[in-house]
Amino acid sequence: MRKIGVMGGMFDPVHRGHLAVATEALNVLDLDELRMVPCHLPSHRGPAAASAQDRVAMLRLATEYDRRLLIDERECFRFGVSYTVDTLEALRREFSQDSLVLVMGADAFRGLAGWHCWQQIPQLAHIAVVSRPGVLNEIPDACASELQGRQVACAEQLFAARKGKLIMLSNLQLEISSTLVREKLESHDAIDTLLPDAVAGYIKVHGLYRAVG
Ligand code: ATP
Ligand code: MG
Repeated sequence: MRKIGVMGGMFDPVHRGHLAVATEALNVLDLDELRMVPCHLPSHRGPAAASAQDRVAMLRLATEYDRRLLIDERECFRFGVSYTVDTLEALRREFSQDSLVLVMGADAFRGLAGWHCWQQIPQLAHIAVVSRPGVLNEIPDACASELQGRQVACAEQLFAARKGKLIMLSNLQLEISSTLVREKLESHDAIDTLLPDAVAGYIKVHGLYRAVG
């Protein structure tokens, strides 16, 4: 049984916070691979500022250092709104004998009850929630009845099954977001501590996230 992580996001652009979350999940859960899945058409927010092609290119540059990090472009090739549950269903079919873990930040977890068919997610994968500054890292009330009994304390308990458990990873507190990166770029502030150099270089060369007008 392989242990496969799945991390969705806009990655607009990918930053050191995303990479720290990915590394935390890989190491604490001892994953065989972590698939980063850029979202094409989000249902809960406006479209990305950068094209899917640029976001994928930046993800490739950012993840070169660890062969366990993969870019999974399936949402970019799928028609219509990108729903996580559709992605997990497809991965479940593809990796029927393996463990799947949906990795998300605490802010995303707080909004889980608003996701399309979120109750199906535990039927398809485990959930790992990574702490984020300023966000309470606990089960949201709206999900309590569905998730309360699923929480486990360690990776060993998580991988006693292929899906259906919840684990909270509380070691990270990294104050970085793509919103902050985009704001800094618009106001011509330095971004070098927030992004890998190769991603910062790509943004510069391609003139991304510049203030319009
Ligand atoms: P934006 O500001 O545009 O929303 P973001 O930094 O929140 O960007 P997303 O692409 O929205 O990045 O997030 C993808 C996933 O990564 C989400 O599950 C989110 O919670 C998580 N994540 C992003 N940054 C961090 C961070 N610094 N700490 C913990 N989780 C994070
Ligand atoms: Mg976000």
